[in-house]
Amino acid sequence: KVKKELIDSDGIRRALTRISHEIIEKNEGLEDVIIIGIRTRGVPLAKRIASKLEEIEGKQVPRGILDITLYRDDLTTIANQPIVHQTEIPVDITAKKVILVDDVLYTGRTVRSALDALMDLGRPKSIQLAILVDRGHRELPIRADFVGKNLPTSKSEVIGVNLKEVDGEDGVVLKEY
Ligand code: 5GP
Ligand code: MG
Repeated sequence: KVKKELIDSDGIRRALTRISHEIIEKNEGLEDVIIIGIRTRGVPLAKRIASKLEEIEGKQVPRGILDITLYRDDLTTIANQPIVHQTEIPVDITAKKVILVDDVLYTGRTVRSALDALMDLGRPKSIQLAILVDRGHRELPIRADFVGKNLPTSKSEVIGVNLKEVDGEDGVVLKEY
């Protein structure tokens, strides 16, 4: 059940705008930058960030998709091995600066699998991670370069991320099992 709203639609928009500026600053522009969303909600987030980057710098940013499924009963149990199903990456990532985008960072296992999948595809110059919500509880030494909001949770809580493209409305809520 929903306990409370943590970020409203304006908050999401502002966080993505800030992250877009941070990406440009860290990379001194958008040269060789490619943005890859992790399915499901990392994909619309990646698209929104790419649009913002284009708006700010007047330059197109190539986009791709990684489809990774976590085998676990629900979001409160310990993650098992995430499986990479499908990759839709339109350009060679060799020597590119890859920005991975996902909605929530938790144990870090999905990102670890994403890193494996990317390394199999080529030799990127760098891989950076942008995440809307960091809910803590890492089980691997992985951190995000760009964070919308740090929202520490207990293990019985989950973060509900709603995005217009998928859920019909924008908002981040705290849910309790
Ligand atoms: P991790 O692999 O870091 O344990 O979990 C991250 C992945 O699981 C992300 O792709 C994210 O979508 C999903 N995830 C983990 N915890 C949550 C949560 O509390 N809320 C939502 N919406 N997704 C979560
Ligand atoms: Mg996910």
